[in-house]
Amino acid sequence: TERIPSPALLRDEPDDVAIRPASFDEFVGQPQVKETLAIAIAAAKKRGESLDHILFSGPPGLGKTTLAQIIAREMGAGIRSTSGPVLERPGDLAAQLTALSAGDVLFIDEIHRLNPVVEEILYPAMEDACIDVMIGEGPGARSVQLPLEPFTLVGATTKVGLLGSPLRDRFGFIFRLNLYEAADLVRIVERSAAIMQTPITPEGADEIARRSRGTPRIANRLLRRVRDFALVRGDGRIDGATADAALTMLGIDRLGLDDLDRRILSVIADDFGGGPVGVRTIAISVGEEVRTVEEVYEPYLIQIGFIKRTPQGRETTAAARRHLDAAL
Ligand code: ADP
Repeated sequence: TERIPSPALLRDEPDDVAIRPASFDEFVGQPQVKETLAIAIAAAKKRGESLDHILFSGPPGLGKTTLAQIIAREMGAGIRSTSGPVLERPGDLAAQLTALSAGDVLFIDEIHRLNPVVEEILYPAMEDACIDVMIGEGPGARSVQLPLEPFTLVGATTKVGLLGSPLRDRFGFIFRLNLYEAADLVRIVERSAAIMQTPITPEGADEIARRSRGTPRIANRLLRRVRDFALVRGDGRIDGATADAALTMLGIDRLGLDDLDRRILSVIADDFGGGPVGVRTIAISVGEEVRTVEEVYEPYLIQIGFIKRTPQGRETTAAARRHLDAAL
């Protein structure tokens, strides 16, 4: 069976551009986030000011990048996108900042992975719209202040806990995106299917939504795989049975767990008698990075009540045990 790569490793596919929501109306779910942002944007426009800095946190694939793009569009502003690990030196960030026009959005993905020396550039930039640059070298070197155009920083992070308070406190808004409810995922699948001109029954959309681990990006990814399957094995129409057959063939179970999820559960439940066991040990046992296990796999396993985090480590629950036994 084809292994569905973990959502963190999933890059958006080419037709993602077409299905990515372009406005708050098209963006499904997260009503509080949308409402708060809509008011903040309207107020900023009324005052003729740039929007306050915004931080989004939450697991990959929940719409952080999409929201940054919608914010820029609603503000009638441009957007530049980069990410924490890409900005290696202070000059890399300074180049991005000085290229911004008034009111633009600078989107920094994985902002918790910024190099500390780069991060320091952000403080005066966010607070006073200026950066300190060093001119010259050695004893003759001096620091000059360079003014920036007013801008809005939109940061995204999968681990808000890794952000220091000097950075966190400089955001005017901090939103936590939670995994989506099944009903929202159904709407996302139906919307994407319509854009892809793929007929889908309510049962088909429901089957895909339930197996998407609360994550829009995974819902879209599974929809594409099921759509291929329906075209080759059927008449192209997605109903409940087609979706179930396609997803089962891909090794995605009734709850949306893939092979790696089941291995993680089995390491804790079988190899360590239900835990507690440290995340490092789990990661080594399944051959994944600690970060991937923590930020990509665990949130959903915790949400469905299969894993508990304790100070001593991870434990599996009775529900996880039953699921593993049933899957055998
Ligand atoms: P993140 O930046 O949090 O990793 P993205 O913004 O890249 O996630 O979203 C991943 C994909 O999921 C996008 O291409 C978009 O099509 C889809 N998506 C995310 N959130 C929503 C939503 N609320 N409604 C509809 N589609 C969404």
